[in-house]
Amino acid sequence: MEIYRGNKITAQTAVGEIRIKTARDVRVQPVSVTDTDAEIRRYEDAVRQAARELRALSEQASRNIGTWNAKIFDVHAMMAEDVDFRREVVTAITERKICAEYAVELAGRHFITMFEEMEDPYFRARGQDVRDITDRLIRILMGEKIAGEPDRPYILAATELTPGDLMQQDRSRILGIVTEQGTVYSHASILAKSMRIPAISGIRINPDWDGHRAILDGARGTLILDPDIETVKEYLRINAEQAETQTDRKDDSAEPALTKSGKHIVVRANIGDASELEAAAAAGAEGIGLLRTEYLFMESGQLPGEEEQFRFYRDAVSAMKGQKVVIRTVDIGADKPLPYLAMPKEENPALGKRAIRLCFDNPEMFYTQLRAIYRAAAYGNAAVLYPMITSEREMKEILKIEGEVREQLRSKGIPVPEIPRGIMIETPAAALISDRLSEYADFFSIGTNDLAQYVLAVDRRNVSVSGYYDPWHDAILRLLSLTVSNARKKGIPVCLCGELAADPEATGKLIALGVSELSVSPSLISDVRQAIRACDL
Ligand code: PEP
Ligand code: MG
Repeated sequence: MEIYRGNKITAQTAVGEIRIKTARDVRVQPVSVTDTDAEIRRYEDAVRQAARELRALSEQASRNIGTWNAKIFDVHAMMAEDVDFRREVVTAITERKICAEYAVELAGRHFITMFEEMEDPYFRARGQDVRDITDRLIRILMGEKIAGEPDRPYILAATELTPGDLMQQDRSRILGIVTEQGTVYSHASILAKSMRIPAISGIRINPDWDGHRAILDGARGTLILDPDIETVKEYLRINAEQAETQTDRKDDSAEPALTKSGKHIVVRANIGDASELEAAAAAGAEGIGLLRTEYLFMESGQLPGEEEQFRFYRDAVSAMKGQKVVIRTVDIGADKPLPYLAMPKEENPALGKRAIRLCFDNPEMFYTQLRAIYRAAAYGNAAVLYPMITSEREMKEILKIEGEVREQLRSKGIPVPEIPRGIMIETPAAALISDRLSEYADFFSIGTNDLAQYVLAVDRRNVSVSGYYDPWHDAILRLLSLTVSNARKKGIPVCLCGELAADPEATGKLIALGVSELSVSPSLISDVRQAIRACDL
């Protein structure tokens, strides 16, 4: 039994086998063959198996993340069966008398280069799809199991996970997550929390752990490898107790959260996909304080169209029955890349083309999203929120674009209701000029996850500097206080939707600062309400 200490992401525990998620690092060798027909048959069997796996993944994904998001796996299955790709592989096997693995590698390289050299960014991004399919075929041919698809539930271990990686997994199979990189403020961690998956980070992953039994203790931030039977029993008991406390908890979802002196603090939900809507409503969320639309963009294999987005936003707005639904325009970039959108590699992506900057660069994408949001607003109480704002100039540009989008819709006879406009206060600049920005906003939403990263110069994902990431730093508190005071002068509400809002120890201090709305993951709403009720203010 060995104990590894890391950082806590979510407080729960998990007991199970470890599965290592690795990028393919085996280099394929050109082995000569004599029986080329047998090699072609091996290749064709591998294609059939890849297509079967991908279609099964598609079914699984459509249960978890919706049919339209699962389309990517069907597209991959079709690409695996592509006739042009087959022709190249078969030619390479017969003419060069090489093994199927190497023939697939060569054909893969050719198609990847071909796509990556295309002008159109959409086709350029297809190179990544070919890479995934090539990897899958080679793994099958080499007799390797595809990481992340074992038949039993498992603890997923990886150097780093992106939210996209996590969304591709079958939720019901993941017992827990252990990563080397990532902190409690990384987007993948936030997603793990809302998926209620026990998680820890800061543990150096050893590939030899694959298949070993382990205990993940989220409360202590430790990983116990090859635990003895007594320790396993102890943790299974803790798990059962946690599940019981969860079911025994008094259902207070219908009562508003009031402090001891009767001050009502609005508690809303942060969500990323449709499956969380039900959880938000069941937890008694007074609306959606942050709809992270980028997850829809990450789940799809291509930019989601206006209709697809409209349906998603309309469903969210209708499900909340008149409660406010704050739809944030897409916050792509940094640790939320879009594989299919051509995004140049950046040295400092957190300081690069992210969120609103990417929207300005991709007007077609931005206008499409805004049209979908305005159309959905007719079905309830929607608001639009803009991320990563740093200047008045950006807000002037947004107002101009909003005007054009409204005109486009009106000219088609589509009614365009007035909807509140919010600004994310998540850069030091935005907080410092919040007096001026309040002229352009109906509400502010403070994103402490990014605000702390930018104020303290600490990458929110970098474990090695996580000790410097202190959302309670005086510099941040001063900016929160300044933002709240500027919002008050203008008479607009301030919501806090960063992870700090979910910390019960922060609740009293945030209310004392004047924050009147908190938005947290649905699974944490009940805890936050309790903290509000315990508050003397
Ligand atoms: C934040 O930065 O605090 C926030 C809520 O946005 P995100 O975590 O999606 O960057
Ligand atoms: Mg942010």
